[in-house]
Amino acid sequence: MKATTNRREFIRASAATTLAAALAPEVLRAAEPRSEKMIGMQIGAVSFVDEGVEPVLDLLQSKGAVNTIFLTTFTYGRGLAGRQIPGQPFPDHGKQESDEKTFHGGNYATPHSQFYAKTALNQTRAPEFGDLDIVTAVLPAARKRKMKLFCSIEDVFRGDVPGVKDVLEVDLQGRKGGGLCLYHPDVRAFWIGLASDLCTSYEIDGILFFNERNGPLLNALGASHAQSIASSRVTCFCEHHQRAAKAAGVDFERAREGYTKLDQFVQSALANKRPVDGYFVEFWRLLVDYPEIIAWDRLFDAAKHQVLAEMNAAVKGIRKELQVGFHIEHVNSFNPIFRATRSYADLATKADFLKVVVYNNCGGERYTTFIRNVGSTVFRDIPKDELLRFNNHLLNYENEPGLQELATAGLSPDYVARETKRALDGVQGKCRILPGIDIGIPTGRNSRKASAEDSYAATRAALQAGGQGVIFSRKYSEMRLANIEASGKAVGEP
Ligand SMILES: [Zn+2]
Repeated sequence: MKATTNRREFIRASAATTLAAALAPEVLRAAEPRSEKMIGMQIGAVSFVDEGVEPVLDLLQSKGAVNTIFLTTFTYGRGLAGRQIPGQPFPDHGKQESDEKTFHGGNYATPHSQFYAKTALNQTRAPEFGDLDIVTAVLPAARKRKMKLFCSIEDVFRGDVPGVKDVLEVDLQGRKGGGLCLYHPDVRAFWIGLASDLCTSYEIDGILFFNERNGPLLNALGASHAQSIASSRVTCFCEHHQRAAKAAGVDFERAREGYTKLDQFVQSALANKRPVDGYFVEFWRLLVDYPEIIAWDRLFDAAKHQVLAEMNAAVKGIRKELQVGFHIEHVNSFNPIFRATRSYADLATKADFLKVVVYNNCGGERYTTFIRNVGSTVFRDIPKDELLRFNNHLLNYENEPGLQELATAGLSPDYVARETKRALDGVQGKCRILPGIDIGIPTGRNSRKASAEDSYAATRAALQAGGQGVIFSRKYSEMRLANIEASGKAVGEP
């Protein structure tokens, strides 16, 4: 070690000693939890099964500076559970064999039936690991290391789960949709039951709730990064939604008429049939003529956020120190219309922390898709590279790549910092902001793959911008060890 380093460390140590002497012991104790940033890792059951609980926790703690496990406990989706998704290269750890045929999903803990008495969704146990209860398997080992453990639960189902068919959404034309209706009493009872079960049955630190579903307006326009444009399949127009609409003073028939016209607008745009006054004017006219379009979209968000608030209240009733977090999805980084519906000040009243997605590498590919989607309907009159530049101004992004380079270059660490800061300014200290960091999220063949340096830079940007921690995403089973190590290094830097 160089002499200068020794000297710097000595000075730092001396300063700390002087400071400690100047502070009363109780002040120091009060300051301790605040100074410790929450460094989280999202990880599913399969990784602990494949690699062993103790070795995985050892690795995460020593290499990744991880002090909090976000354990995927409920989902039927492959974004948070399972090994590497099919078609993508395996990382340099874990079994190098696809679980495509064995993956099922569900509750990887043990559902206790008394919590599901008010819902038909009472048979959700994940079958792939037999009797293994992943929370029971991991929690004591995490505690031994003074690591926190949160259960991640995600609103992703599959059609063959018992009870699901009776609680599905209903689309514009009266067909069953693919998602579960958040106004259905059984669905609400399920989420409250699941969160209550996990927080009562296990000495965990809390819940992180994922719900990436969008309302009918965004779905009609395909105004996201991860979907096709399906304007005739928008949801939900079921009886429970109609009741909620009535209570909110929203006219069901007018809403259905508005969405039918929106469907026609979208299909005409995709067929390149330009309205007399242009695409944007026609779209805006529809909103003016049918304010019920926006009102119906608001109903979806209201249900989603009400489930979060109800979950938070139920969990706090079990143990008041339990924490509830909410995952803020990536479309928030691209779509100003979506962003307008996500007030951080409001969300701060419903959660203890927000995991704000700031995935920068895959962000390039996803932002490109978003621009292509909105550029094919509402903003079809605008050249797409100009639309991207315009949108960057709306979102307060600077110096990001142009449309041709965006997917291969990814978004910058500066984007990570800006979105972290915006969230912090929005919540005004009323809840914690834990940016979700992209550590090797799978992308297309020609899109950016996160290097170790990328993971380092994104982690550092989020922490330097003031994030009260970070959450390494999406899941350990798709991350390379060098990226985890580089992110851990960024955590350790002043
Ligand atoms: Zn409904």
